[in-house]
Amino acid sequence: NLSTDHLAVRTTCAYCGVGCGVQATPKADGTIAIAGDKLHPANKGRLCVKGSALGETVGLEGRLLYPQVRDAGGLRRVSWDDALDKVAGTWRSIIAEHGPDAVALYVSGQLLTEDYYVANKLMKGYVGSANIDTNSRLCMSSAVAGYKRAFGEDLVPLCYDDLELADMVVLVGSNTAWCHPILFQRILKAKESRPEMKIVVIDPRRTATCELADLHLPVKAGTDVWLFNGLLSYLARIGAVDPAFVDEHTNGLDAALETANVDCSDPAAVAKICRIELPVLMEFYESFAATRKTITAFSMGVNQSSAGTDKVNAIINCHLIGGRIGKPGMGPFSITGQPNAMGGREVGGLANMLAAHMDLDRADHRDVVQTFWDSPSIAGKPGLKAVDLFRAIEVGTVKAVWVIATNPLVSLPDADQVRRALEKCELVVATDIMQNTDTNAYADVLLPALGWGEKDGTVTNSERRISRQRAFLPAPGEALPDWKILSLFAQRMGYGGFDFCGAHGVFDEHARLSGFRNAVGDVPRAFDMSGLAGLNQREYDELEPTQWPVRRTASGELQTEARLFKDNVYAHADGKARFIATATRAPANAVSEDFPLTLNTGRVRDQWHTMTRTGKSATLADHIAESFVDIHPQDALLHGVREGELARVSSEWGAMVARVQHGGGIPRGSVFIPIHWSGQTSSDARVGALVNPVVDPVSGEPEFKHTPVRIEQF
Ligand code: SF4
Repeated sequence: NLSTDHLAVRTTCAYCGVGCGVQATPKADGTIAIAGDKLHPANKGRLCVKGSALGETVGLEGRLLYPQVRDAGGLRRVSWDDALDKVAGTWRSIIAEHGPDAVALYVSGQLLTEDYYVANKLMKGYVGSANIDTNSRLCMSSAVAGYKRAFGEDLVPLCYDDLELADMVVLVGSNTAWCHPILFQRILKAKESRPEMKIVVIDPRRTATCELADLHLPVKAGTDVWLFNGLLSYLARIGAVDPAFVDEHTNGLDAALETANVDCSDPAAVAKICRIELPVLMEFYESFAATRKTITAFSMGVNQSSAGTDKVNAIINCHLIGGRIGKPGMGPFSITGQPNAMGGREVGGLANMLAAHMDLDRADHRDVVQTFWDSPSIAGKPGLKAVDLFRAIEVGTVKAVWVIATNPLVSLPDADQVRRALEKCELVVATDIMQNTDTNAYADVLLPALGWGEKDGTVTNSERRISRQRAFLPAPGEALPDWKILSLFAQRMGYGGFDFCGAHGVFDEHARLSGFRNAVGDVPRAFDMSGLAGLNQREYDELEPTQWPVRRTASGELQTEARLFKDNVYAHADGKARFIATATRAPANAVSEDFPLTLNTGRVRDQWHTMTRTGKSATLADHIAESFVDIHPQDALLHGVREGELARVSSEWGAMVARVQHGGGIPRGSVFIPIHWSGQTSSDARVGALVNPVVDPVSGEPEFKHTPVRIEQF
C-alpha cells in the first residue's frame, strides 16, 4: 500500500569511509527500502552490497534496549538515573583517589561527529585527562601521523574526483574492490572510458582488486618502505624532480634521499627484498616517473604496521619530489576504513590530539580550546593509545573504562589480554546497540544507544566531506543518542557546558570551535568549518554534503576547497612541506621454527567489523558464511592441513580455529584470516587473539598485517 509508505529520507551509509549517500524509505509493511542517493557526490546513486542490505540490519532482535547494571545475580534492568548515578559515583571516587588518568573512554569511528565531540570535550576539558582513544587508532592513525609530519596538519589533500582525473592510480595495501567498493567502481568506470589510465596494485595478496590492475606488485609484507625509498632514489637519479617546487615549498629532501640511498638505491636489491620480479618493479618505477598525474591511494596494508607512519611518509616523499600534489589528479590519498574516522580526527578523538586539529603539546592551542570551552581544565599531555590503554587497565593504573560502539575483545591485537584487562577493571561501562557482544559480557553497566536509522548527526568521509546521517526510525526501548548519554553523565559529574539542545547544538559548537582564533600562533589551521557555524535547525537538517575547509565569504557565500595545497602553502610554521627520512626496518616479529608463517588480517566484501550489524543480513551471509584461513596449497600440504577442514592457527599470543581454504591469492609463507568473526558467532574464531600487540612507535597503530603463526589440523 504505497499510500502509507513514508517519504524517502536522505542519509549516509553506516559502513566504510567512502561515505555513500543513501535514500531510506520506511515502507508500510515495516521494511525499509534502500537506494543510493543520486545527489550525493561520493556515490552518485550507486551502493555496494553492504549498503544495499542496510534495510535488513535495522530489526530489533538482539538489541540492547534498557540500561542494565550487573550485581551478584547478573545484569538487571535499571533506570537511566540509577545507571548513570552508579557510573558517575564510581568515576568521582576513582578520580578523587587516583587522579583523572585513572579513568578512560574507548570510543569508535562508528560514532557520529556530535557524539565524538562531546566525548572528547568531556575527557580533555572536564575530567582533565586525554585518556580517550578510539578504534580508529587501529585503522588510520599512521596516516594521521604521516600527514602531520609531512604537512604540519592532518590533511588529506585530494578528493574522489581526482581518482577519475588521474592517469595512474597506485593502490597500496588496499583491497579496494572489497573494502571501498564504490570508489573501486568509480576507478573502474574511469578506466573504461580511458583505457590508457594505468592501475597498479601493490599488495602481497592477489586480491579482487587486481582484476582491474595493469600491474600487480606482490610485495613481501612489511617491505613497503624499501619499495618507496627505492622509488624516491630512482626518481632523484633520473632527474624526475621538480626543483623549483622542492626548493621553494619543501624541506628535508637531502636527508630523506641520503637515508633512502643507504639500502634502496639499487633496484635489483630492492626487488630482491620486496620479492618482486625486477622487470615488474622497473615498470612501476618508470611508469611513476613518466606519469605526472599519479595518485597513490593507500589503506590498512600501509597503516597497520610497526612502520606504518614511515610507510605513509615514504609514499608522500615520492609525491613531493616531483611536486605532484595540490593539482588535479595527483597526490597521496589515505582511504579511511570507518564511516566517521575522519570526524573523530576533526574533534580530537585520538588520545594524542586536541579538538579542531589542535595539538595537545602546544600551550597556545590548549589555551584556545580551554578558553572556547570555558572548561575547568585541559589535558596537558597525550593519553594512552588503544593498546597501551588496555595494558594499563590490566596492571591497574586505569581503573574504570567506558567502551562506546566498539568491541575490543574481538578487534584489538592480543585480544585475550583485553579479556584479562576487563576482568580486572573496577568498572567496565559499555554503550552499545546490541545486548550480547564479546565485550559486553564483561560490562558492569550496559547503556543502550541509538543505531543507524535512529540517530541524527554528521559523518565525514575520506575526502573531507561532511554528510548528514538522518533518523527515519523511532528510538527503540529507552535507547538514547551517544552525545546525550555522555552529556547526562557530565551533568551528573557536576560539569557545566553540556546542556546541548540537540545534535544540532553540538554541531554548531564544533563548527564554531574550528574557526575560533584559528590564526593563533603561526599559520591558520586548514581544518575550518566555521562556514557551517550558526546554521539554524532547518539548515542543519537540510545540510547538503559539504567538504571542509568551509568558510563564509564576506557576502555570506559558502566557500569550500575540494583539493588542498593549491597555493603550495603547508601547515608547518614556515609554510613548507617536509620530506621525512624513512629508514628501512623489518616487521617487529620474524617467523621462526615454531611459528613459520606470517598472518595477514583484513575484511571480506560483505561483512563489517565484528558483524553486530551485518551479521543480521541473510543476503550478506550468502557471500561467506564463516571464518576461514586462506593458505597456499603447497603450504597446506607442508603443514598437513586440507582445504574444507578445520585447522588451528596459533601464535605466541593466542589461538583460533577456522576452515582451510585456497584461492585468495595468498603468497607462499603466509596465511590470511578475516577480522569479523568472534566468539559470539563462531566458537573461538577471534583472529585478534593471535595478532601481535606491536605498534608503530609514532602512531601507536598495531601491526595487524604481520604476526608469526603456525597452522595444524584441528
Ligand atoms: Fe556503504 Fe562503503 Fe558500500 Fe558506500 S562503498 S555503500 S559507504 S559500504
